[in-house]
Amino acid sequence: MEFSILHARPVVGRAVREVRGRIAPALPMVLAALMAACSADSVEPDPETEYRIDVLAGRGVSAEVASVVPVRVRVTTPQGVPVEGVRVEFLPNPGHGTTSPSFLDTDAQGEAATDWTLGTMAGEQVQRVVVGGVVEEVLTATALAGPPAALTILEPSLRLTGYRETAVLETRLTDAFGNELGPVPLEWSSSDPAVVSVDATGRVMAHAKGVVHVVARHGTLADTATVEVDPQGVLTITFDDGWRSTYTVAFPILEKYGLRANVAVVTGAIGWPSYLEEQHLNALHDAGWAMVSHTVTHSDLTTLSAADLDNELRESKAWLEARGYRGTSVFVVPYHAWSARERAAIEEYYVAARGYTHNQFWPDSLVEWRPTDPFALTAHEPEFAPFTTEEGRQKTLEVVARAVGEAKFLDVFFHDIKPEAAEDFEKLIAGLAQYRDWIRTYDELFEPPASPAPAILAGQSPAQRPVHMK
Ligand SMILES: [Zn+2]
Repeated sequence: MEFSILHARPVVGRAVREVRGRIAPALPMVLAALMAACSADSVEPDPETEYRIDVLAGRGVSAEVASVVPVRVRVTTPQGVPVEGVRVEFLPNPGHGTTSPSFLDTDAQGEAATDWTLGTMAGEQVQRVVVGGVVEEVLTATALAGPPAALTILEPSLRLTGYRETAVLETRLTDAFGNELGPVPLEWSSSDPAVVSVDATGRVMAHAKGVVHVVARHGTLADTATVEVDPQGVLTITFDDGWRSTYTVAFPILEKYGLRANVAVVTGAIGWPSYLEEQHLNALHDAGWAMVSHTVTHSDLTTLSAADLDNELRESKAWLEARGYRGTSVFVVPYHAWSARERAAIEEYYVAARGYTHNQFWPDSLVEWRPTDPFALTAHEPEFAPFTTEEGRQKTLEVVARAVGEAKFLDVFFHDIKPEAAEDFEKLIAGLAQYRDWIRTYDELFEPPASPAPAILAGQSPAQRPVHMK
């Protein structure tokens, strides 16, 4: 069959692939029609069913959204002879703008042109060029966002509840159609930097109680956020050493009041009589408690050699980490006994430490929340209040109220809760539960340090790395 060969014949040029792609599925129908025509012996094959389309302008253009892109095509036979008077339709995809005219017939040079007004959405935009209702070419343009027309701070009001607390004000810079523009430097200012300062990246930091306006500018565009500093304290509850009663007596009572706490674990004592077993630690951890380090042997750090000091700090942390516990970046100092040497050693492994009680100081002092010095966390010990008397419980709750109201940090810490003290302990916990909104676990307050990149040099295979035998 002569005609089938004509339609399937490969011809060079990009458009030809479109020709074959379009016609092939319809081939049986075309053949049927042609065979019917042949039998009538009256029709020549229509050369207009096979066109070559050359795009003279408008392919691969980058232009602003809603701008006009001139498009011009030339239609020829596969042999390159211009085809006059064939209908060319310019059909942008939905949302990809409009063409004017949207269709016309080719001129004597086989050419047809239109203005493609791009749609308003940045990104790739597509239009199909259809010739003779059959042959199709696809044009793609990259629509670029227009000039900045609006600057928005995404969070128009923000409340910071701790001194030195920071937050980043995210912004959106868009053109007139809402297309987002890439990151551009903004000018930031605060109406009172003594209350809230702001840096060049839009990061605000709280310094004092108050309300400020923070303004972001880009040229003539600006937006304002209201930032309030309303300092609030933070409380933690910690059970030091790892007494068995932490699980058997304290845990059920805290659960009853919906409170979570920390265990300051003496890792070498786990499993001893009267101390927690690993299964207890696991159960507490599963209930949302954090496990902070309190050494291996509960030694007075100031009496240890440098090697033993290092061992106490490193091994206890490693023991907790090996069990996947949260809170292992915080250290509790045994006996509150430490000085500069011990502190320096602690700082090697931890990001925060609790080693003071508030009434060790004169005047009685609590560390600010957030602390400038996270190794100076302050604590209160209700056992000495004592919590077994109404007066003692009130004393503890007064310190708690002060910490919350004055934006301080307070760790309320306990040791062994004897079963006979459980009733009084519960009374105190019921009082503390009023402050549940301020109570956190240590892992929620202090992030572990970002782990350093593995020290593998480029080109060094793992086998070449030194192996440290125990
Ligand atoms: Zn202890």
